[in-house]
Amino acid sequence: MIKKELKILGITSLNLGSSTGENWFSGGEAFESLSPVDGKLIAKVSGSSQKDYETIIDTAENTFKEWRLIPAPKRGDIIRQLGDKLRELKPTLGKLVSYEMGKSYQEGMGEVQEMIDICDFALGLSRQLYGNTIHSERPGHRMYDQYHPLGVVGIITAFNFPVAVWAWNTAIALVCGNTVVWKPSEKTPLCAIACQKILADILHNNGLPEGISNLVMGDKEVGEWLAADSRIALISATGSTRMGKEVAVTVAQRLGKTLLELGGNNAIIVTPNADLNMTIIGAVFGAVGTAGQRCTSTRRLIIHESIYDKVKKQLTKAYGQLKIGDPLDTKNHVGPLIDKAAVKSYLNALDKIKTQGGKLLIKGKVLEGKGYESGCYVQPVIAEVENHYEIVQHETFAPILYLIKYQGNISDAIALQNGVTQGLSSAVMTNNLREAELFLSAAGSDCGIANVNIGTSGAEIGGAFGGEKDTGGGRESGSDAWKAYMRRQTNTINYTTDLPLAQGIKFDL
Ligand code: NAD
Repeated sequence: MIKKELKILGITSLNLGSSTGENWFSGGEAFESLSPVDGKLIAKVSGSSQKDYETIIDTAENTFKEWRLIPAPKRGDIIRQLGDKLRELKPTLGKLVSYEMGKSYQEGMGEVQEMIDICDFALGLSRQLYGNTIHSERPGHRMYDQYHPLGVVGIITAFNFPVAVWAWNTAIALVCGNTVVWKPSEKTPLCAIACQKILADILHNNGLPEGISNLVMGDKEVGEWLAADSRIALISATGSTRMGKEVAVTVAQRLGKTLLELGGNNAIIVTPNADLNMTIIGAVFGAVGTAGQRCTSTRRLIIHESIYDKVKKQLTKAYGQLKIGDPLDTKNHVGPLIDKAAVKSYLNALDKIKTQGGKLLIKGKVLEGKGYESGCYVQPVIAEVENHYEIVQHETFAPILYLIKYQGNISDAIALQNGVTQGLSSAVMTNNLREAELFLSAAGSDCGIANVNIGTSGAEIGGAFGGEKDTGGGRESGSDAWKAYMRRQTNTINYTTDLPLAQGIKFDL
C-alpha cells in the first residue's frame, strides 16, 4: 500500500537501519513496523547495537566541533533547504505518517506542515539568537550575555507525532549549533528513517560532514543509553510521564539538562456564557481527533450545571455522526489506535470507569468486520464521572471523553480543571470577559497552554509548547524555547587601565 511512497522517500531494503547521515548500520536486533490501519507488516527494521551507538555518538561529538563554528545564518540555510524539501514531499510523507501511525491523512499532512513551519521559524531565528547588553556598575566596563551551542542533543520521541516533534527539536537545535541524535518511537521507525534520509541528503549535498543529524533505533533500552550518557548535553524527551520520571532521574544523576514533554489531562471549561456551537466542535475534535492520541487531546469537559444537559445532548448527537475507519479515506473522522496494547488499555479504562462509579453515555467497543481487520479501531466513548476518580486522574491515550458537572462560579471550575497531576493544555469557552481573564490570571489555569474559545487540542509552532507538573515543565518549538538548546555566558570586558572590583571591594597589594 505504501511502497510507492517509501520509494519516493528513498527508503530501500538496504537502508532500513540506524544512521549517521549516509552510513547505515544494522547491528542491533530487528523489529517490525506494523500498520494499525490494516494490521499489515510494512517493514522489518534493524535496531542499533551498542557498537553502532558508540560510533554514532563519537561521530556526533566530533562533528559538533566543526558545526558550532559555522555561522548561525548558514546553519539556518540548511534548515531552509529542509523546509523546501518537505514542501515538495508533503503528501508523500503525510501518507506514510498516516499509514504507519494511523492518524488521518489530513492530520498526517498537518504534521508535515508543522515541520515546514518550524523550519521557517528556525531560519528566522538563525539571525536572532540575541543576548542582552547590561550596564556595568564599574566605569570603563562593558557587560553582555551571549548564547553558545550545548553540544550533542539527544531527542527521544513518542509514536503519536512521529515526524513533527523531531522537526521541532532538530530545526532549533541545529540552528543553535548543536548536533543531534534521535531515538524515535519503536512503533514508527519508517517515519524516522524518512526524516533522517531527507536531512542527511541535504547535509551531504552541501558538502557537510557526517554526524550532524543522527538516528539510533530501538526500544526504551536505546533511550536509556542516551539518558545515561554524559556526552549528551541535553535530553529532549517526549512521551509518557512514566518515561519522563525515569529519564529525569538518570539525567539528573549526571547533572545533565532535560527538556521534558510528557502526558496531559486536558480540560475544557464550559461556562453558562459559552457559545455552544463552538464548544461542541472544539470538544468533539479535541476528544476524537487522532483517536484521542494527542498529548493535547480533550479528556475532560467541565460543564456548568445550568447547561449540562443541553451540552450532553448535543455531544451525544454529534458522536452519533462520527465515521470510524481507514484514516487515509478523508470521509472518516476517527482512525485506529496505534496497536493492540493501546486497545487493551482503552478496555481497561472502560472497566475502571464503571467500577469507580461512572456512567457510559456512549459505550465503548472494539470494532470488527470489514475494514477493521487490524483490531485497532474502537468506538469513541463519552462517560459521566467525577473529577476525583482514579481513572479520571490518569491519562488514557484513547478517545474517552469525561463529562464533569460544576456548580458555583468559574473559580469552582478552575479548581476542578487544576485538580489533576498533569498540566499541559486547558481551555475555557465563554463570552464573558471576567471569566476569561480570571482563567488566564495567576489564580487561573495552571497549565502551560491556556486558551479562550479554542479547544485544548493542537498548538501553533510560534508559541512555546509544553506544560507544568507531571507534564514535565519543558518548552519547545517557538517563542524563546530555543534558549533550552544553548548555554548562556555572561561576559564582562574592562577597557581601562584600572582593575576596580565589584561591589566597591578594596584589595590593596
Ligand atoms: P512512551 O513514554 O511509551 O515512549 C516515548 C519514547 O520514550 C519512546 O521512544 C520510547 O522508546 C522511549 N522510552 C520509554 N521509556 C524510556 C526510558 N525509561 N528511558 C528512555 N527512553 C524511554 O510514550 P508513547 O506511548 O510513545 O507516547 C504517548 C505519550 O506521549 C502520552 O503520554 C502523551 O501525552 C505523550 N506525549 C507528550 C507530548 C508533549 O509534547 N507533552 C507530545 C506527544 C506525546
